[in-house]
Amino acid sequence: MHRLARDLAELVGSEVSATSPQGRFPAEEVDGQRLTGVDAYGKHLLAGFARGVSVHVHLGMRGKWLRFAPVTGPGLRQVRLRLAVPGVAWDLIAPSTCELLDAAGRAKVVGGLGPDPLRADGDPDEAYRRVGAPRGSIAAALLDQSRIAGVGNVFRAEVLHGMRMPPTRPAHSLTVEEFAELWARLQAMMRQAVDDGRIITVDAEDRLVVPEAESRRVYKQGLCYDCGTPIVTGTIDGRTTYACPQCQPKWTS
Ligand SMILES: [Zn+2]
Repeated sequence: MHRLARDLAELVGSEVSATSPQGRFPAEEVDGQRLTGVDAYGKHLLAGFARGVSVHVHLGMRGKWLRFAPVTGPGLRQVRLRLAVPGVAWDLIAPSTCELLDAAGRAKVVGGLGPDPLRADGDPDEAYRRVGAPRGSIAAALLDQSRIAGVGNVFRAEVLHGMRMPPTRPAHSLTVEEFAELWARLQAMMRQAVDDGRIITVDAEDRLVVPEAESRRVYKQGLCYDCGTPIVTGTIDGRTTYACPQCQPKWTS
């Protein structure tokens, strides 16, 4: 989302043509208005318009934005929202959320999220308080967007492997020092992903040619990239975890 916000910033400052070829978004409410900013908070995108309303987008599992420059035709029928300026169009397809919010609605979305490691206002001390709350595993805590925002299943698997920490480690057992390292690793990994436009955690001389299936150390891998041990999968809160039993030994208090 942070990468998208950065790319969509090319529309900021312009009066934007907004349409909904699919007809499922009230585009006329923002059509012709000046886009004042595009912000990412975790996995949420908020596009602010001059009259104080924001378009709130969450892509969910299948949503995506497609960029057209030059613009070759009108948006296809499945496009929920097209934002366009002369020569450039951005089409939003299959989001899980695309809604108009007033200032209060926007504040509610942002207020429901934990600190975001990619944002300058993301406060690691607050994140430690929320993630370290005495319930559940570190793996569950990392995917809970109200505790820390923006971490998905790939980042979770890769950062815990980097920390040599099993997914089942109780969240409240993390020390201040461990959490500081976790936060720093997440920041580095997520910033790199914004630059790459995808998540690559393996060493790569040329990041442009890393095959998707070989771009992670443990996530959806058969063998651990670091030590070659078979990866073990599990399920925590309905989401699959990936860990190396050699690199991430069971935690004993
Ligand atoms: Zn390993």
